[in-house]
Amino acid sequence: MSAVAGTDIEQNTPVEGVDVELLEAGRVGKASRLDKLGRETRTFLRFVKLLLPYKDKAILIMLLILVAVPLGEIGLFLFRVLVDEVVLNFDRPIGERLTLFYLILGTQLIFWILHHGMGVLRQIFGFYLDMKISIKLRHTFYNHLHTLSLGFLRSRPVGEHMYRTTADTTGGGRQGVVYMITDDIPQAFSLVYRIVWAGGLLIAVDWKLAMVVVVYMIPYTGFSHYLYTLLKGTMRQLKIQQQRCAALLRDGIRGVKTVKGFGRVNYQVLKYTQQVYEERRVWWKWAMLSMLTHSIVLWTIHQLVTQGMWIYAAYRVMTGHLSVGEYMIVFALVRRLERPLEQFVKLMQSIRMQLVPAERILETLDVTPEIVDAPDAEPIATIQGRVEFRDVHFSYDPEKPVLRGLNVTVEPGESVAFVGPSGAGKSTVMYLLMRLYDVDSGQVLIDDTPIQTVTMDSFLDQMGVVLQETHLFGGTFTDNIRYGKLQADDEEVAQAARMAEIHEFIESLPDGYERDLGEGLKLSGGQQQRLGIARALIRDPRILLLDEATASLDSRIECQIVRTIEKIMRGRTTLMISHRLVTVTGCDRIVVIDEGRVAEQGTHRELLANDGLYKLMWDEQTRGAAD
Ligand code: ATP
Repeated sequence: MSAVAGTDIEQNTPVEGVDVELLEAGRVGKASRLDKLGRETRTFLRFVKLLLPYKDKAILIMLLILVAVPLGEIGLFLFRVLVDEVVLNFDRPIGERLTLFYLILGTQLIFWILHHGMGVLRQIFGFYLDMKISIKLRHTFYNHLHTLSLGFLRSRPVGEHMYRTTADTTGGGRQGVVYMITDDIPQAFSLVYRIVWAGGLLIAVDWKLAMVVVVYMIPYTGFSHYLYTLLKGTMRQLKIQQQRCAALLRDGIRGVKTVKGFGRVNYQVLKYTQQVYEERRVWWKWAMLSMLTHSIVLWTIHQLVTQGMWIYAAYRVMTGHLSVGEYMIVFALVRRLERPLEQFVKLMQSIRMQLVPAERILETLDVTPEIVDAPDAEPIATIQGRVEFRDVHFSYDPEKPVLRGLNVTVEPGESVAFVGPSGAGKSTVMYLLMRLYDVDSGQVLIDDTPIQTVTMDSFLDQMGVVLQETHLFGGTFTDNIRYGKLQADDEEVAQAARMAEIHEFIESLPDGYERDLGEGLKLSGGQQQRLGIARALIRDPRILLLDEATASLDSRIECQIVRTIEKIMRGRTTLMISHRLVTVTGCDRIVVIDEGRVAEQGTHRELLANDGLYKLMWDEQTRGAAD
């Protein structure tokens, strides 16, 4: 199980004060309201910290708001002068009125352009922050994901990890957490500032109306909060459904051979459609709730109060308490106060909604990586290639020990095969050497140095790994081979391909090494494995790990690849796992693992003479072949 602790998003390191159990409690609805509020605030503040490196831009946005808002208000007051002093002032000569009319209109236009121009600038800086923070957040998340244990990564469908990396960070429809940081925070600042301005002006013109607006906000806020709490719960369900759809879609396309091979296209489509149906059902619930919130409840409250206020203002004009110009200003000011107040309430609720993806991101970010370099780890020098497993105990699940005191030493340049019944722990031995997991007790040593005391990259760089199936990345042959050594030049790439005996094939293709593997090129299993071998060889590894590298090939191709492997093994320490014993007879030594321990070891001949488990397995396999 992966440990859970707080993580600083910026530093990607554990920090105090983030209680993830509260997140869990929140999901099952056990946390008290105060806890929930505290949790929401803490989550919010952790994401706000992402703004710190760009504080100059954030401050600039705030300054633009500070200047733009009064510019808009001055234009409004000029409008009052225009109506009361110019348009309706019949005492002045028409020529003077017309001059004033154009003068005021011109001044208004200048203010309007300045106001609008600042709004555009603010948007540009907002988009800039959006871009920077999206990159930062996705980088942090993706990087963190790769530091987590295989156990954690496999505990969730791949589609879910993808959804959290993409949709939860910068998803469409303002559902990603980045919008909360880059759009909502400046928006909240702008709204508060506008409320203060419009509120102050309205109080100056008619304080009673200002009070009505403030009192009206009480039920408006209360209803909003309640309805948005319901919406937030539905949003969480919607996210889960959306990520299920993404996972199923990925599964179906990735497993297309199995889907078609089993004639399960209809079944797969039906399964996906059911998930889409379920997702849309939750979306429908969300849409209806959203409509109830905005178009029915909040709209009704809004209409009741604003219509009442207009009637009251009109009454005050009729009774001589307000001029027509003042009426128009009051009309505009009430709107200018009441709209940002409403928007502010909605914005606060929308931030709460965006805390849903924020919490989901933290659920992953707060998982502490288990396999990390020790603080005092030093890079290992060029290795000779001696590998030792010393009294190694390991289990994935404490109830089921996998390795129980494994002792094996492989000398530099020696080739050793690990064989044994299925589930005996052979692959686990390789995983421990690659530090995909750490031993529970005992030690894994390279050149007599425990691997936990050196930096991982420094020894992994000197190892080459070929797995049962070579994963080919998008890109060219060169890209895929160079993956083993990023700084390798073209000659090194070709040399590795020659050793892996795939050079001629690549050269025979129209674009040769620059041929894109994604462009409809179908490689056979053998060709894929040869590419995998070239990728491992390009780093000229001192230690070569082969985990069932030929298991998925037919026996003719397997023989060819085994011959290639035998050539490249020379002079390197090689640890090889294979089920097919005929492929390991040429190894210097064969180690038979059974129930997490070494059952016997020796050369092929010695083990046959030993008449133990190896002999039993050999007889079974050769009898099978003879039949
Ligand atoms: P095979 O020859 O079938 O590949 P193996 O000898 O390589 O088997 P391992 O893959 O090392 O065996 O697995 C040893 C045991 O550990 C098995 O019982 C397996 O079910 C279990 N195991 C392997 N990986 C995990 C995991 N990630 N989580 C839990 N148990 C695991």
